[in-house]
Amino acid sequence: MEKRYRIFEPGRVEMDLLAEVAGKFRLGPDSPVSMLPYGQLPDGTLKIGAETRRLYFHFAVDGDCFVPGTELVKSSEEWKEAPVTRIISFGKCNVSCPYCKRDCQFLGDDGLPIIAQPVLLAEVVALCEGAVGRGEIVRFSGGDPVTFPTVTLAISEYLYRRYGVKTSIAHNGSGPAWARKMAPYLGSAAIDLKGVPEKIGGIMGIEAVRGELFYKNSLETQGALSRAGVLTDVRTPVFGDTSVDEMRRLAQDIYRVNDLRYTFWTWRQYKPVQGCDWSAPTRDGVIEMMKMVSRDIPALWLGIRAKWDKGGMIYVKAGEVRQKTADTLAVDMRDFGSGNLIEVAV
Ligand code: SF4
Repeated sequence: MEKRYRIFEPGRVEMDLLAEVAGKFRLGPDSPVSMLPYGQLPDGTLKIGAETRRLYFHFAVDGDCFVPGTELVKSSEEWKEAPVTRIISFGKCNVSCPYCKRDCQFLGDDGLPIIAQPVLLAEVVALCEGAVGRGEIVRFSGGDPVTFPTVTLAISEYLYRRYGVKTSIAHNGSGPAWARKMAPYLGSAAIDLKGVPEKIGGIMGIEAVRGELFYKNSLETQGALSRAGVLTDVRTPVFGDTSVDEMRRLAQDIYRVNDLRYTFWTWRQYKPVQGCDWSAPTRDGVIEMMKMVSRDIPALWLGIRAKWDKGGMIYVKAGEVRQKTADTLAVDMRDFGSGNLIEVAV
């Protein structure tokens, strides 16, 4: 039967190495992996692995850790120096955030369901080979990569042994044990901390008591990674009813568990999604809150995605915006990726 999907610009797989590494995890090159497509060709063929994002926090990194600075972006062109990640998007998740999916279907930027496709492990590795060949960072995303713990470990070990490169994860924070195993292979990680303990269950579409557990898991996960020297981007959605006191509580916990030299905190301004009755905050209100919270913990970098449909980020540190936004207004940042949560006018 003809395949319904096409792998984005694959590279050549070293099959002996893949078989050896996959075998350690009771996998084989033909093991099926559920993947989310990203767009489709005119004939309807689904594209697997066609998505990239930039590592926005790159401008707060000096050497191998985050350091104080007064101005992060000196010219429009510098935005294009942020590293490119190739998104390996798994088709399963262990929670059900209402703004992401309904009825077990993920929703794309256009609000339409995205149907997961079974893809062979060797094809996923070929996708990663192509990415590494272009100098991109392989980033396991979702869905959530914690639902494919052995696949992500096998691919990461394969790439590390073959090229000495490290991978990245975008993870909801629920899997500290898996994250610890991944840590030696990771250069960076985005870890969700989606709200204070009493609200996080509702935000993630799970029972309140399970939400409280996931809150603790996220702190454990991000702490383990940042303390292992993995650049860790903690991500928190901000809704219309999110208070500065709630964000202060999160800030205290982030401060308590993490090595701040390796920790960045991204605030994600919620954009209304059909079917969810949560309200959205104002841009100015969120930035004022960021400044207030940032004053409490001056050593922690904060950022908020700006012009989400075109990319970019506003940085806050020690209570001040640390970026000249005027330059970013003129930038065409279409290659910075897209998303379905945030739209901030700068
Ligand atoms: S954790 Fe991420 S992938 Fe999973 S349901 Fe929530 S938003 Fe979607």
